This record gives sequence, C-alpha cells and structure tokens, in this order.
Amino acid sequence: MRLVLVGPPGAGKGTQAGVIAERLGIPAISTGDIFRANIKGGTPLGQEAKSYIDAGKLVPDEVTNRMIADRLSQDDAKNGFLLDGYPRNSEQAEHLDKILSEDGLAVDTVLELQVPEDLLVSRITGRRTSSKTGKIYHLEFNPPPADEVEHLTQRSDDTEEVVRDRLAVYRDETAPIIDFYAKQGKLKSIDAVGELDEVTKRALDSLQSA
Ligand code: ADP
Ligand code: ADP
Repeated sequence: MRLVLVGPPGAGKGTQAGVIAERLGIPAISTGDIFRANIKGGTPLGQEAKSYIDAGKLVPDEVTNRMIADRLSQDDAKNGFLLDGYPRNSEQAEHLDKILSEDGLAVDTVLELQVPEDLLVSRITGRRTSSKTGKIYHLEFNPPPADEVEHLTQRSDDTEEVVRDRLAVYRDETAPIIDFYAKQGKLKSIDAVGELDEVTKRALDSLQSA
C-alpha cells in the first residue's frame, strides 16, 4: 500500500506511523525525521534545512522533493510505503503524483488525523523524544518509562512560539491538499483524539475499508 498520513503538527502522525507501517509491512518515511538526522549529522542538506525548521516554515520544495524522490527509489519502498509529513503543499502533492506515475504507480490512500487546534499546542510543547530509542513520548499524555527519562530530548521547534507559525503553515499550505485527495476519492479521515491504541484501531479499521 502507498499511504500518506496527513494532519497538523501534534496530531499524532509520528506516533501512529510506526505502528501502522509495521502492521502493513511497509517502511514509515518521515521527512521531518530525515531532516533532523541530517541536521544532527551536519550534512549540507541539514545545513540547508535548519533555518526553515527553526522558523517553523517549510523547507523549499526543490530540496524536499529531491530528498523524497531519492528515498522512494530505495529498495525497501518498492512495494509500498507510509509517508509521514510529505506532501505538505500542492506542489509536493503534484510532485509525488509525477514521480509515482513515471513507474505506473499512484498514492492509494490518504489518512487524515483530525485533532482540534486547541489540543495541539499542549501536545507539542509536552512532546519529548528518546535519543536512545527514537520513541515519541509526552510528559503528561504518554509518559516515558523510568529507564528512558535520562535520554529525553525536546525538539528545538517545539516551542509555543514556533508552534503557532507551524499551525498557520498547516492551515494555509497543507490543509488544501486534503481537498486535492478527497476529489480523487482517496481520503479517509479519523478522529485522532483519544487513547493511543484507540486511535491506532480507528486508523487500521479505516484502512481496511479502503
Ligand atoms: P506529529 O508527528 O503529528 O507531529 P506526534 O506523533 O509526534 O505528532 O505526537 C505529538 C505529541 O502528542 C507527542 O508528545 C505524543 O506523545 C502525543 N500524542 C500522540 N498521540 C496522542 C493521543 N492520542 N493523545 C494524547 N497525546 C498524544
Ligand atoms: P510535525 O509533524 O510536528 O509538524 P515534522 O517532523 O513533520 O513535524 O516536521 C518538522 C519540520 O520539518 C517542519 O516544520 C518543516 O520545517 C520541515 N518539514 C518536514 N516535512 C516537510 C515537507 N514535506 N516540506 C517542507 N518542510 C518539511
């Protein structure tokens, strides 16, 4: 299955991506994770992306589109993938269609995680990631086990100030692609408020009826 997860920052895309992808036997590919790994590794791509990420803006399409084409050409993505955080605007959605269609392929389903905006800021400011396992936790909603506490890190863009800008970018640039996929009959939307397992169940149920 070629699946796209879409939803505002803090909707739970990263949290659900790993579980869903494992169940479906496809790789979860997160553009945010790839950028952060490059920033950490000090690569030219990381240096190019950092100022945009810190400001809560989208990294330019030219950079992001090239990166995703390269990632999707790798062997593990040949039989399907779950994209988390891409596409994020209409140009990227069209680019994805274009690179897939060159191989006679297309996106099968787009799963939208719906969360009211007033819940997102607290989800994001309380988000912590383990530098040891890469797992995503929340100080209040999904606290880490004791042996993870010393490894917790906070993303530099997860401040209340940057979050406001990221939410505005989502509204203005990303939300329109939901309509683009709805018109193609590919959209499934679920309520992503509730226990983590409950949201996973809703996601898998919704994909089964795809
Ligand atoms: P995204 O990738 O969409 O930005 P994450 O998966 O990183 O979102 O989740 C954002 C924060 O919200 C994390 O701290 C995560 O632990 C927490 N979270 C995820 N799903 C839920 C949920 N169903 N209820 C409460 N908190 C959640
Ligand atoms: P979240 O799910 O919390 O919004 P991500 O990890 O998906 O966070 O993205 C973090 C940042 O990385 C974004 O704010 C943006 O600067 C950059 N980024 C991620 N994916 C893309 C993309 N498809 N296009 C442009 N920039 C991106």
